[in-house]
Amino acid sequence: MPTHVLILGGTTEARLLAAELAARPGVLVTTSLAGRVTRPAAVAGEARTGGFGGAEGLAAWLAERRVDALVDATHPFAARITAHAARAAATAAVPLVVVRRPGWRPVEGDRWHPVPSLAAAAGALPGLGRRAFLTTGRLGLAAFAHLRGVHFVVRSVEPPEPPLPPHTEVLLARGPFTVPDESALLRRHRIDVLVTKDSGGAATAAKLTAARALGLPVVVVRRPPLPAGVTAVPDVPAALARLGLTPPPATA
Ligand code: NAP
Repeated sequence: MPTHVLILGGTTEARLLAAELAARPGVLVTTSLAGRVTRPAAVAGEARTGGFGGAEGLAAWLAERRVDALVDATHPFAARITAHAARAAATAAVPLVVVRRPGWRPVEGDRWHPVPSLAAAAGALPGLGRRAFLTTGRLGLAAFAHLRGVHFVVRSVEPPEPPLPPHTEVLLARGPFTVPDESALLRRHRIDVLVTKDSGGAATAAKLTAARALGLPVVVVRRPPLPAGVTAVPDVPAALARLGLTPPPATA
């Protein structure tokens, strides 16, 4: 029987890990996606889409499919599935590896305003600017919908769902983004405040560099905590090591 690894995906790390595992003889890898994105990027190995029906449903799936290891490589803000993964792994007695790319760190020149939630970001906004660049994802815009005095430029991969703030422009785009492009966007739209989740990673960090160069304030929504007792590894090589598989040698 091959070793069966279930990856809870929706991130670059999940795709990279699936490719690593699928290339190994004797390893069967299944990636699970929530199904929020209409045309998700292809993954190596098997794929499945849609919720499991809570932690109990996930635990049953792990047992039925004889999963040997569960990897939670979901987005740092996908707190529900992460809580379910921890409970399901314990119920099914399956080892759990959680992959979380490190959060961003402010550097000199940054004008960051850390907040605990999207609601708190909305509360902070009117005191910081009148033209906001909102990159917090298409779900959750309801938190900003009551703000009439702020013009929003919202960037998301898929069209956002109502309710939206009354003054909203939508830009559909998928990262990675470059610093010159982000700087041009901030200038073109006369942005005076940026709102972002602390997603971490390189693909969407350019906006922070651009905002710093322009001296703009940035409202940074902090990550939800990991479930009690759960620790994370920062990247794919560390996840492979935690699974007991050696990372491939680095190429020159
Ligand atoms: P969430 O609030 O933590 O999860 C809500 C429900 O969606 C879960 O209870 C689960 O349903 C289902 N679900 C979530 N991820 C799943 C997965 N990988 N496979 C199967 N079912 C999944 O999640 P979310 O914040 O809506 O994010 C959904 C997906 O988008 C995640 O896979 C995440 O990696 C990705 N993503 C999220 C963000 C973000 O900012 N939140 C950004 C980029 C990508 P059941 O209880 O029925 O199992």
